[in-house]
Amino acid sequence: MEKLFRPLLSPAQRRANARWRESVIASTPPLSDDHVGDLLVIAPHPDDETIGCAATMVRRRLRGARVRVVVVSDGGNSHRSALISEHELATIRRDESLAAADLLGIGRGAVQFLGFDSAQLRAQPQAVVSAITDQIRQFGPSEILTTSIVEWSDEHRIVAGLVRLATEESGFTGVLREFPVWHWDNGPSRAKPWASPLRHVVDLIRFRRLAAASRPGVSVPVAELRPLKEAAFACYRSQTTNLTGEETWRPFPDRWLEKFLDHEIFFTVSDASGASVAE
Ligand SMILES: [Zn+2]
Repeated sequence: MEKLFRPLLSPAQRRANARWRESVIASTPPLSDDHVGDLLVIAPHPDDETIGCAATMVRRRLRGARVRVVVVSDGGNSHRSALISEHELATIRRDESLAAADLLGIGRGAVQFLGFDSAQLRAQPQAVVSAITDQIRQFGPSEILTTSIVEWSDEHRIVAGLVRLATEESGFTGVLREFPVWHWDNGPSRAKPWASPLRHVVDLIRFRRLAAASRPGVSVPVAELRPLKEAAFACYRSQTTNLTGEETWRPFPDRWLEKFLDHEIFFTVSDASGASVAE
């Protein structure tokens, strides 16, 4: 059944996804540069901050805001390798993150690493919440951006949930927004790409209803910041190239970043009044 469905499914998903993304961009107003306050970006892994909000961070910085990036997990398990250990990969990714921050003008001093590994992220949620809460209290942002609760990526979704808890624990009353990353690959479906084709077919059939349940959000045109964002993304060589030459080392597909180079899209979880506006 897989062989029969997949060739039909992929083009249909791509079309549905493109339509959905266009409708999201059309329905999300541009992010205001007025009343800009300090921005805290909470990334599950080194690279999510660049993929999801490089242009937004630069715009905020140029308007005089302080920008801080907190990287929750070390990302050491992103690739399986006989040549590089998880610890070594985590170190490489940390250095890549610092280089990207330098390039974006945020500065490496603005990047904090919480250092949780993948297992700790799942097994020690309260420790993660406490660490994020400390970061929020120390930095005192008026705006927080993190990955989205609608992601099919487990770790992105876990961090989104823990950030929501940390905003409550810290008494944060500013704006909380979430940016999907992998979600844009399969549109409004929350199924993992390798889920059964039937599941994806069902999601496609439900597409109209899912698309109609639009979320309040904002979008940021990347425009003239596009080359800078591409250059920052290229700092993540462990993710964008086959670092070890091993067959198992799968980099991001070519042109994968394209969808993050027109607009950066954020769904609003709570607005400036602290009121909850999304699920
Ligand atoms: Zn990630």
